[in-house]
Amino acid sequence: MKIPFNKPFLTGKETLYISDAVKSGKISGDGLFTRKCHEFFEEKYGFRKCLLTTSCTDALEMSAMLLDIKEGDEVIVPSYTFVSTANAFVLRGANIIFADSGEENPNLDVCQIEKLITNKTKAIVVVHYAGIACDMDKVMEIAAKYNLFVVEDAAQAIDSYYKGKPLGSIGHLATFSFHETKNIISGEGGMLVINDERFIHRAEIIREKGTNRSQFFRGEIDKYGWVDIGSSFLPSDIVAAFLYAQLENLDKIQARRKTLWNRYYKNLKPLEEKGYLTLPRIPKYATNNAHMFYIICNQPEERTNLIAMLKQNDILAVFHYLSLHKSMFYRDIYKGENLPNTDKYTDCLLRLPLFYELSEEQVDFVSDLIIKNYEEKEI
Ligand SMILES: *Cc1c(COP(=O)(O)O)cnc(C)c1O
Repeated sequence: MKIPFNKPFLTGKETLYISDAVKSGKISGDGLFTRKCHEFFEEKYGFRKCLLTTSCTDALEMSAMLLDIKEGDEVIVPSYTFVSTANAFVLRGANIIFADSGEENPNLDVCQIEKLITNKTKAIVVVHYAGIACDMDKVMEIAAKYNLFVVEDAAQAIDSYYKGKPLGSIGHLATFSFHETKNIISGEGGMLVINDERFIHRAEIIREKGTNRSQFFRGEIDKYGWVDIGSSFLPSDIVAAFLYAQLENLDKIQARRKTLWNRYYKNLKPLEEKGYLTLPRIPKYATNNAHMFYIICNQPEERTNLIAMLKQNDILAVFHYLSLHKSMFYRDIYKGENLPNTDKYTDCLLRLPLFYELSEEQVDFVSDLIIKNYEEKEI
């Protein structure tokens, strides 16, 4: 039984919709399917304004431009995240102030934010790791107190909630990813959500190479031109057609992933009770969108052994996020403190296979191997 780490799931309608898009004769950005995707998100989650982008990375770069991040500005970012969360702001000249993760889960520890704020701080970027919400009331309260902007990197957080509010609807801006490793996919793809009215007009311009072309297409102006900085951030309608087929099946995809996630959790719970490992903790204020199933080993060597043991059984389990403050690019510039929780997740977190087409039997097979691995040590 060979079990990959991830397998992109196709709902069946992707190529049909792509062919519709092609036949419609309009395959550049902002065509019929892009509009359908925008409407889907705006209606289902109440996002003020949605703009599809070619990736979450691009949506983050748009965020940095919209917030007018300039040389020397400081942006608070968790160290335990994907490169793009920080790099998007570095491109605008920001100094990244890395925050540690919490004890409970890899999300940034909101209690650490205030001491990192200086008079140069412009924004806080939170990451809802594994689709589990950060404590957003506290984040927004601090942001209001110091007059800072909040960007939610919601790359992993589709269809997940904080105290009943959809993730991506709380910060001034939010970014999503539809990369093939996420719950809902389009190969490469992303979206910028603009919750603060003030950014909508300029976001459309930045996304259209610094031109007011979107306004022109709506008939609001009679010619369009270069009015600001920007780049080409909008995806082809072919990509949106693929994405729309996925969105039509969102509930089905989420339900299946949650079933598998819960099965892993139930299978491995006895190991946690015996103190062998730690399972994901979901705070009361957060929901689980089953983006990822991870375990946290007690020691780095245990993780290395588990990966090797699973590999011998043709199962691919992976770890990620070499902490950004220790990355080759940033370690020499980093002037902050040690980030012990970040180090812990970097060294000890292990992600298990989780994808739509994974079977219950496969979840049990992986779980049993892990259980056996620890029980052998008991004897
Ligand atoms: C996947 C991911 C990204 C990058 O998304 P792309 O669409 O590949 O650019 C950014 N941040 C986080 C937290 C992610 O998980």
